[in-house]
Amino acid sequence: MVVLHPRLDDLGPLAQLVERHVYTVDVVGSIPAGPTTGRRFGRVTYVGRVKASPRDQRALLDLAELDSRIRRAEAARASPPHAARVKELLAERQARTQELAALLGTRDDLQAEIGRIEADVAVVDARRVRDTERLAATSNVKEAQGLESELASLARRKSDLEDAELAVMEQLEDAQAAVTAAEGMIARTNAEGAELSAAGKAAVEAATADAATATRDRAAVAAGIADDLVAQYDRLAIRNAGAGLLTRNTCGGCHMVLSGTDLAEVRRAADDDVVLCPECGCILVRTEESGL
Ligand SMILES: [Zn+2]
Repeated sequence: MVVLHPRLDDLGPLAQLVERHVYTVDVVGSIPAGPTTGRRFGRVTYVGRVKASPRDQRALLDLAELDSRIRRAEAARASPPHAARVKELLAERQARTQELAALLGTRDDLQAEIGRIEADVAVVDARRVRDTERLAATSNVKEAQGLESELASLARRKSDLEDAELAVMEQLEDAQAAVTAAEGMIARTNAEGAELSAAGKAAVEAATADAATATRDRAAVAAGIADDLVAQYDRLAIRNAGAGLLTRNTCGGCHMVLSGTDLAEVRRAADDDVVLCPECGCILVRTEESGL
C-alpha cells in the first residue's frame, strides 16, 4: 500500500496523479495499469494491491458485523417500532376529544332544558297553590268558576311539562351514556399511548446503549487490524458491505454467486492478497469455509 502524503496539494500535480492512480487501485480495485485505465466492475475478480494477513482479513468480517449492528441500532433509535402507533393514538385522541366536546355540549343543553321545564313546573305549582287558596276563600260563584277552569288548565299544563321532562330525561340518559363511553375510549387511548411511549423510550435507550457498545467493540476490533486494510474497508463500506465471507461460491456482502472464471481468479490469488467481489466491490474474505 502506498502511503500518501497527507498534504497532496503541497506536492504538486505529480502527487495528485499518484493519488488518483492509488485511488483507482485501492478503491475500484483494478490492476494498476496507470491513472486512467482500469478494468471495470462486473466482469472480473479484482485483486487489489493491498496485502493483508488472512487473520486481519477475517477480522474485517467482525468489523462489518459490528458496523451493521451500529446501523441497525441507529435506525432503531431514530424511529422506534412504537412511534407509528403512538402517532396514530395521538390523532385518535384528538378526534375523540373533539367528539367528546360535542357530546358534552349536547348533554349540557339537555340539562339546561330540564332546568327550564322544572322552573315552568314551579311557576305552575305556585299558581295552583294560589288559585286553590283563592277558591277556598271566595264566595263569588263567577270567580269560583274562573278559578276552577284555570286550575284545570294548570293541571293539563303541568302534565304536559312532566311528559316533556320525561322525554328530555331519556335523551339526557343517552347523552350521558355517550359521554361516559367517549371518556372511556379516551382513557384507553391515553393508557395505550402512555404504555407505548414508555416502551418506545425503553427501545430508544436500549438502541442507544447497543450503539455505544458496538461502537466501542468496533474500535477495539479495528485497532487489531492493519491500518491500511481498515482504511480500504472504510472506503469500500461507504457503498457496499465493506467485507463479505466467500462461501458456497457466494459473496457474503451482496449474496451474488461468482462465476467460474471469477472463482478461478480468486483461487489464483495469494492468501495475503486482498480480493474484491466482482459484483459489489466489497473485500471477499476467504477462509476454510470458502471451500476454494
Ligand atoms: Zn459481493
